[in-house]
Amino acid sequence: MATLGIPQNTIEVLQKYKFNFQKKFGQNFLIDTHVLDKIISSANVTKEDMVLEIGPGIGTMTQYLAENARKVVAVEIDKALIPILEDTLQEYDNVKVINEDILKVDIRALAEEENGGKAIKVVANLPYYITTPIIMGLFESHVPIDSITVMVQKEVADRMQVGPGTKDYGALSLAVQYYAKPEIVANVPPNCFMPRPNVGSAVIRLTRHSEPPVVVKDEKLMFRLIRASFNQRRKTLVNGLNNSPELCFSKEEIAKALETMGLSQTIRGEALTLEQFGELSDILYDMKRK
Ligand code: SAM
Repeated sequence: MATLGIPQNTIEVLQKYKFNFQKKFGQNFLIDTHVLDKIISSANVTKEDMVLEIGPGIGTMTQYLAENARKVVAVEIDKALIPILEDTLQEYDNVKVINEDILKVDIRALAEEENGGKAIKVVANLPYYITTPIIMGLFESHVPIDSITVMVQKEVADRMQVGPGTKDYGALSLAVQYYAKPEIVANVPPNCFMPRPNVGSAVIRLTRHSEPPVVVKDEKLMFRLIRASFNQRRKTLVNGLNNSPELCFSKEEIAKALETMGLSQTIRGEALTLEQFGELSDILYDMKRK
């Protein structure tokens, strides 16, 4: 039975094993059953699913996942947590714990091995210090994924969800929205964790698009353009792209592309939609090929 969501039970486990929280691993354990229920229901986990959990901690959410999924693979970096997980998860025969850094795991191979290459669901209360590399790694490595439902810093969840013209809009918004549909499903205050984080948190569900919302001739070029535009946020797009060491377009070429798109020469990257970055990327791509 899933019981670790009750604070007293978590405290007992921590005391039994004399566990010391490691700040460097972003350890803030969930101690709120309502939040745990909300994550599980938002992730739509069923008995058909293989779930990848990143950072199980003492196994609180893992217990909930094990009761709802066919198979749970949980990757935990902190070896001090492994004996604890063996204890808290002993009732479940559908959980596999891997003691590894998630950024070093070949998740594609794991999905092949454990789920016959079918799309997996990722569910996690993420370590906040590596939220972006984890999410981008999952998308860019072409792991077959159905959805990613994760607890992240509130501010990061906002950045993933917003569109042009807002201060939070940036390279992360565009990258996430290229691969998935983001929806914030819950805001979670610090008192739902032990120890309490210094920031607010939110649960966000990223549902993978079956087809990307824009089709471009060179995906890498579009992402280089996006990065260059937001690296130099206060510059106009023409200057930002022209100054980027990752790109080799003259001011005239960029100006010409903007003119073709009917955009102002003084426009900034933060005003462009994903579709417009796609169009710009294709125009510049064609120019270089001529
Ligand atoms: N899932 C647990 C919960 O909700 O109570 C713990 C969540 S805690 C925010 C993040 C977890 O990720 C910790 O257990 C931490 O040790 C683990 N972690 C940190 N960096 C990791 C990495 N690179 N690879 C795998 N796990 C990591």
